[in-house]
Amino acid sequence: MKFIGPIIIFAGICCLAIACYEFFTVEFFEEPQYFWLFFVGAPLIFFGFLLTGVGNYKKLKEINNEEIREQMAAASKGWAEGQLKAEVFCSNCGHPVGKSFKFCNECGSSLQNN
Ligand SMILES: [Zn+2]
Repeated sequence: MKFIGPIIIFAGICCLAIACYEFFTVEFFEEPQYFWLFFVGAPLIFFGFLLTGVGNYKKLKEINNEEIREQMAAASKGWAEGQLKAEVFCSNCGHPVGKSFKFCNECGSSLQNN
């Protein structure tokens, strides 16, 4: 699927190249035989870019989803580890809190003086 776009673009460029070459080398009194390739090549390039864009967009979306999932997993893992390592307890309510916490997440009292 991801090769279709570039192949169509390449085919379109070939069509335009043949048409251009024919257009500039044809004798004045001769009728160009491959002039129609202009009308084939241009849409081919357009659709090729369209397909390539769609393919890249899907790929980008997948990468972003994976990155976000990894970051979420790392963040939640870090939070869980932080909770397990919590050796500080709130002086007000005794709730276990993270070492880096400035306020108790249970009662909201300041932990600065602990
Ligand atoms: Zn507390």
